[in-house]
Amino acid sequence: MKPAETIAIVGQGIAGTLLAAELERQGAAFHVYDAGPVGAASAVSAGIINPVTGRRLARSWRIAELLPLARATYRELETRLGEPLWREMRVRRWFRDDRERRIFAERRESGELAPFLGAGESDGFWTEGAGHVNVPVLLAMTRRRWRERGCLTVGPVDPRELRQRHAMVILCTGAALAAAPVFTGVPWRLVGGELLTIAVPGLAENVILNRGIWVLPLGNGLAEVGATYAPDATEARPTAAGRMRLESEARDLLGQPFEVREHRAGLRLTLPDQRPVVGRNAADPGWGVLAGLGSKGASLAPWLARQWWNHLSEGVPFDPEVDVGRFGAPPSTSRIA
Ligand SMILES: Cc1cc2nc3c(=O)[nH]c(=O)nc-3n(C[C@H](O)[C@H](O)[C@H](O)COP(=O)(O)OP(=O)(O)OC[C@H]3O[C@@H](n4cnc5c(N)ncnc54)[C@H](O)[C@@H]3O)c2cc1C
Repeated sequence: MKPAETIAIVGQGIAGTLLAAELERQGAAFHVYDAGPVGAASAVSAGIINPVTGRRLARSWRIAELLPLARATYRELETRLGEPLWREMRVRRWFRDDRERRIFAERRESGELAPFLGAGESDGFWTEGAGHVNVPVLLAMTRRRWRERGCLTVGPVDPRELRQRHAMVILCTGAALAAAPVFTGVPWRLVGGELLTIAVPGLAENVILNRGIWVLPLGNGLAEVGATYAPDATEARPTAAGRMRLESEARDLLGQPFEVREHRAGLRLTLPDQRPVVGRNAADPGWGVLAGLGSKGASLAPWLARQWWNHLSEGVPFDPEVDVGRFGAPPSTSRIA
């Protein structure tokens, strides 16, 4: 490919990383531009994929399709990068109140949580088939690989300047999209989130504990505790209230002392319909986007990256449920490759 035909990816969080990894796997030319992890949601992401989430104990959206692709993608990346990235996990969930207990009974009865529903307990249940992606290692290893290969430039860029040099610029800039000069018609929303790293002995390595908050064992006596969910946040800032809530709930859940080692915050980018966004800009199809991953970057990014590749290589339309065109512009159908 000539430089102009090299696809420019702006942002190397989970979204940009998975997109670049897919293009690399397919042998397509790409160049990543990334300002670095400060303030990026991916720099605080715990990397959990949980098939049953929320207070309504809902089966996560399209999880039966997303999970096998995520597992295969991260395992293939383990081979490519020579580092372990993926862990099979189970989730031990406790009911917070009678309402959750009732919802669980209904869901079990209807069979809608199969095949993820594990053993029931008097005070909760097990979810099988969850996963954990080591996001810091994934980002660091791909960053090093692409810098060495000359296909990553570190530092903030003006995407409009890149658009003059590249036929296709795909924005994977996370929260920065809320103030970007393109895709302005998309109703972006920012949601703050905080997380703690704690030192705590004796946790089973493949079990995520969950009651309102979750505790993710990292090994070596460390665990992550998260996450808060603060709609309409404007900055990624650890707060005293966030820390107090996470510490207090972790104390109840663990029933043993622990030491807080780190406290981090990030901004999630979401949409009112809770679905991510892929596609092209209707006015200038040389602009693309992959964003709005909300709280589910680890499971959504491989599937959205695959949507982009199918679109670029075969002209396959994006899934209408995630196409940026759902916010008013016509569906993204033109192809460049
Ligand atoms: C506390 C917390 C816990 C979470 N836990 C989980 C979890 O367990 N599982 C899960 O699946 N998800 C989790 N999430 C959600 C997950 O973090 C996000 O879905 C995901 O990280 C979004 O990735 P992204 O690549 O879209 O954006 P980001 O990670 O924000 O990346 C955007 C990148 O673009 C770069 N950038 C922006 N503007 C420019 C520019 N002009 N020039 C160059 N570069 C630019 C930034 O530097 C950054 O590197 C969590 C989120 C939070 C806040």
